[in-house]
Amino acid sequence: MRVISHFIDGNHVAGQSGRTADVFNPATGEVSAQVALANAADLEVAIASARAAQPKWAATNPQRRARVFFRFVELVNSHMDELAELLSSEHGKTVEDAKGDIIRGMEVAEFVCGIPHLQKGEFTEGAGPGIDMYSMRQPVGIGAGITPFNFPAMIPMWMFAPAIAAGNAFILKPSERDPSVPMRLAELMIEAGLPAGILNVVNGDKEAVDGILGHDDIGGISFVGSTPIARYVYATAAANGKRVQAFGGAKNHMIVMPDADMDKAADALMGAGYGSAGERCMAVSVAVPVGDETADRLIAALAPKVEALRIGPATDRQADMGPLITKAAQERVFSLIDKGVEQGAKLVVDGRGFKLQGYENGYFVGGTLFDGVTTDMDIYREEIFGPVLSVVRAQDYEAALELPMKNPYGNGVAIFTRDGNTARDFAARINVGMVGINVPVPVPLAYHSFGGWKASAFGDLNQHGTDSIKFWTRTKTVTSRWPGGIKDGAQFSMPTMA
Ligand code: NAD
Repeated sequence: MRVISHFIDGNHVAGQSGRTADVFNPATGEVSAQVALANAADLEVAIASARAAQPKWAATNPQRRARVFFRFVELVNSHMDELAELLSSEHGKTVEDAKGDIIRGMEVAEFVCGIPHLQKGEFTEGAGPGIDMYSMRQPVGIGAGITPFNFPAMIPMWMFAPAIAAGNAFILKPSERDPSVPMRLAELMIEAGLPAGILNVVNGDKEAVDGILGHDDIGGISFVGSTPIARYVYATAAANGKRVQAFGGAKNHMIVMPDADMDKAADALMGAGYGSAGERCMAVSVAVPVGDETADRLIAALAPKVEALRIGPATDRQADMGPLITKAAQERVFSLIDKGVEQGAKLVVDGRGFKLQGYENGYFVGGTLFDGVTTDMDIYREEIFGPVLSVVRAQDYEAALELPMKNPYGNGVAIFTRDGNTARDFAARINVGMVGINVPVPVPLAYHSFGGWKASAFGDLNQHGTDSIKFWTRTKTVTSRWPGGIKDGAQFSMPTMA
């Protein structure tokens, strides 16, 4: 059995805890590897290596730090097929979708190739008589990232690229469900010229996370995962005096106005609702057609497309989506569909009976479509994280707007309309962090920043974009006066620079 250990100081290091977890192939249900689960002693080895390596890396000039990322981007591109296949084999998403996962992370590595410019400080000449003032952005020291299973390439890169480019060492604690790609990325960073110890991967579960949250040598923590754990990470790390950003779950709505192009809206919902089997934090899980006529047209366009979804293992290059990540995830989605039926939603397409010959033990769920969903039902209240789309009918624009406004989550939202005034009003008023106008999955590009509102994100700085450079650096402001500028005698009143 293949064992996935830790990656510390440029080497694969066996764990000391004696604990492991099974890694599955979700298409077959077979165990494909065992991953080591770190304890405090394992984490300590990684931190000692990071502590030793970081000062020299921070003192390396920013062009040289950037060059590691230029080479890393080349390496990721040249290993794209291998990485995508590995990713699909543990996650279950299609190989094409896995490439998107890798590319969206690699784009952040491309963005931080501009670190010499991004990390520049501020300078004011003559802030007072003979006085200059300047601000520097210095690394926090050792940063840590705790990542979810659903984007095992993208989210680790979102975190480690800006942190490392800014001069930090980084401890990555990937999801224990699909740890192979994060390990491979760390190897490629070393191959790209990163000094050993600057990127260490510590595999594990809650024990490793708790070690990170309480460790005195870690200055900043970035978390992405479910909302209950995001809250816990945010509160615990902040209580321990660390800077922390913690991104949580979602319930993303897409409003379809009567004037929208219904075919385009239905196609958009197919990709956004069922792509990656709905296991995306930016998946659309609630469609809100405005008016019954719009709703009837939308359901009529959607139902045959949902029935025709091609579901298969990653080896099926024609598949639209693959299985869910675990047996537990599959069972949870089945039970939520059961509850939807019990609580009175109309099941238009039922994915519970889906079977694939030769893959009977895979964690597949067929595409599922509900109509007549109301806000008190469990299928509306919970993040399903599966291929289940709920249609909530709204009688007018204001009623449609109210749904995402009142929802506790605020990650993404979209509106499909041909009316600029409606779109503009929607973008201005909605209390959600990422808004799509005729764009169903509005994930911002690397040079903008990614982050939700409300229960989808805790902390004030987003992932990537200039926010990420701010998050992974501390501001130090120097006020300097040289001897020639000092006036005679002491000054006892508050200096005002007047
Ligand atoms: P998860 O919360 O179960 O796990 C995330 C990380 O936390 C993993 O590394 C895991 O090992 C660790 N963890 C799990 N339980 C823990 C505990 N009790 N204490 C400490 N650490 C713990 O999430 P997941 O199932 O891997 O990912 C899916 C979730 O992530 C969904 O809710 C999805 O919406 C969310 N997500 C959010 C974003 C975003 O940007 N907002 C992006 C991707 C995924």
